[in-house]
Amino acid sequence: MIYNVAQLMKAPVGTSQVNDFHEDDFQAGDDIQVVGPLDGHVRMRRTNQGLLVDGRVDLTLQLECNRCLKVFEQPMHIPFEEQFYPTVDVVTGLPLPPFDEEEIFPIDSHHELDLTEAIRQNVLTALPMVTLCQEDCKGLCSQCGHDLNLGPCECQPVIDTRLSVLEKLLQNGSQS
Ligand SMILES: [Zn+2]
Ligand SMILES: [Zn+2]
Repeated sequence: MIYNVAQLMKAPVGTSQVNDFHEDDFQAGDDIQVVGPLDGHVRMRRTNQGLLVDGRVDLTLQLECNRCLKVFEQPMHIPFEEQFYPTVDVVTGLPLPPFDEEEIFPIDSHHELDLTEAIRQNVLTALPMVTLCQEDCKGLCSQCGHDLNLGPCECQPVIDTRLSVLEKLLQNGSQS
């Protein structure tokens, strides 16, 4: 996912270049397991200051259900749009003043643009706050730990427990 954009940086504003990419071993982060390859499509457009880069990536993540703790595979289709600014002048090769805007990615001194970090950040942003194996996952029995998606367990509902939880909530509420 590294592109040499020297020619594009010399081209007039509005010039664009499109690429498809494929990455067999994409690392999204320590806690995130990527299953299989990542595929993507990117368009890089020359702007006044640099390049506007947009596109999409398709990949599959291995997530853990927040309710039943089952590990499942979640296909993701993630659109992205980022700005890349040059760090050296493409004609003179002289270093450019650092840009102080945030959320801008650098084009390195060899005029190479690396999409990896931009895509990694977009994958993290696209992660759902709550991950569920299915929308109506029934979760685990709080008493025996049985996966209730597989059917009911033998446990009797314990009314007392629920009441004591309610009591605690009420107590906490009156204390604060
Ligand atoms: Zn689940
Ligand atoms: Zn149970």
